[in-house]
Amino acid sequence: MTRQKIDPERAEKACSFCKVMKPRDAFSKNRSNRDGLNSVCSSCDQVISSCGQLMIRLEYSKEELLKEAERHQKLAARAQRLADGMTPREAARLELGLEQAVTAE
Ligand SMILES: [Zn+2]
Repeated sequence: MTRQKIDPERAEKACSFCKVMKPRDAFSKNRSNRDGLNSVCSSCDQVISSCGQLMIRLEYSKEELLKEAERHQKLAARAQRLADGMTPREAARLELGLEQAVTAE
């Protein structure tokens, strides 16, 4: 039996948004990060970009939303629902929910 070395290219990394351990190829490249990868997995990145409009209205930057999502797991769940597609009415309801979640502290 040969011991396998841990290949850093294949090691898993935890997404800072969904907190799930994912293979490195689930993250897009980001040279500004130490490990050369985004801290958020590609699927979460899509969720976050689909929240873009909402965040602009709430005057949230992506970094701020990520920080909030860490503090309020509810936000992550809402963002996930956002990604499933939303109608303008749902968006308005979600916006209200996000505001409540953020100001609940
Ligand atoms: Zn993720």
